[in-house]
Amino acid sequence: MQFHIRGGRLIDPRQGVDDELDVIVQDGRIARIGKGLATPTGALVCDARGKIIAPSFVDLHAHLREPGEEGKETIESGGAAAASGGFTTVCAMPNTQPPNDCRAITMLVKTRAHELGGVHVHPIGAITRGLAGEHLSDFGELKDAGVVALSDDGKCVMNARIMRRALEYGRTFDLPIVQHAEDHNLSHGGSMNEGATSTRAGIPGQPAEAEEVIVARDLILVEMTGARYHVAHASTARTVAMVRDAKARGLPVTCEVTPHHLVLTDEACAHYDTSTKMYPPLRTKNDTEALRAGLADGTIDAIATDHAPHSANAKNIEFDCAAFGVIGLETALPIALSLLPLERAIERLTWGPAHTFKLHAGTMPEGSCADLVVIDPSLEWVVTAEETQSKSKNSPFLGKTMRGRAVLTIAQGVALCDRMKVLP
Ligand SMILES: [Zn+2]
Repeated sequence: MQFHIRGGRLIDPRQGVDDELDVIVQDGRIARIGKGLATPTGALVCDARGKIIAPSFVDLHAHLREPGEEGKETIESGGAAAASGGFTTVCAMPNTQPPNDCRAITMLVKTRAHELGGVHVHPIGAITRGLAGEHLSDFGELKDAGVVALSDDGKCVMNARIMRRALEYGRTFDLPIVQHAEDHNLSHGGSMNEGATSTRAGIPGQPAEAEEVIVARDLILVEMTGARYHVAHASTARTVAMVRDAKARGLPVTCEVTPHHLVLTDEACAHYDTSTKMYPPLRTKNDTEALRAGLADGTIDAIATDHAPHSANAKNIEFDCAAFGVIGLETALPIALSLLPLERAIERLTWGPAHTFKLHAGTMPEGSCADLVVIDPSLEWVVTAEETQSKSKNSPFLGKTMRGRAVLTIAQGVALCDRMKVLP
């Protein structure tokens, strides 16, 4: 497939590009970028006037559920949801069944994604075998098989000795250790943030300190080991402050935030809507403001979706019993656009995350793999279960009107999402 994307405003923060430019896609590559280019013979023309062209987005944190829970999501359906939201690079968390703690599972995920030929899927390997928190997995084997990071996400590495070793070996293999920061003893039994709202609602809470004590401990261990450390889904003001301080001291620390933690507070849980139940829980207004400030000043490197599909019967039950997690690949862009200046929003969805895990993505110089998105920043649309590409529909934003959407998503030179009807 060849494309001539014409007359859009190309924003590529990594390249320092923000200009009206044409893009030619040929043979799966960005063949040319320039002004007023001629249309190559046979190329499909996309009229991007009034729209934004950008490198397609990079998600550091998604649960694709394959292998083992294909009823919730698959690499194929998760990839479709990604493309629908403008993402073409997705890092897949290892809490599948069985967990990705060895070469065989890493290869399975990579092979499946490769067969599909669209969205790039980068597996994240488990820090500990079986995500059990007791014995390190074989980092060398996982690195060799192609993981881009290590995490026990869904669970915290509670044992400080194991965490120290993980950081030491992570450093040896130049892999970031991604922590789901939650002291399980402190958070035990909690279904939402602990505070005035949980008291009023009569729902057991998890204190913000459950996250913060782990981040504090880990930063001390990072100082000890010099290893790359990434805070998954930061949710509290003090976490942002600690990461800001660690960065100022030159520690190799990075951090992500989810769209839902930027715009929703624990008051959303007061109506017992289980689509507002997730790890970590929605926090307070003070926390969302600190997260937005951290995103704006660069303390937070990336917006990551924590896309966590769950079946209806895991969610259509009492709040206390419902599964933790929400989907997010298709709603991340409009939320980012609603909070940040356009260039910054794109940077936090492209080069910010790509740089964090050292991925070849998130920028589109001539000659690079043709992964790009055309965005209509003023398009208003309503989030519906029917249109959601994910197999699961557990979004807190169903029925909400969003502004800004991917209208053409190209991965490896193939149009995966085509709301502009560029394809014949
Ligand atoms: Zn997590």
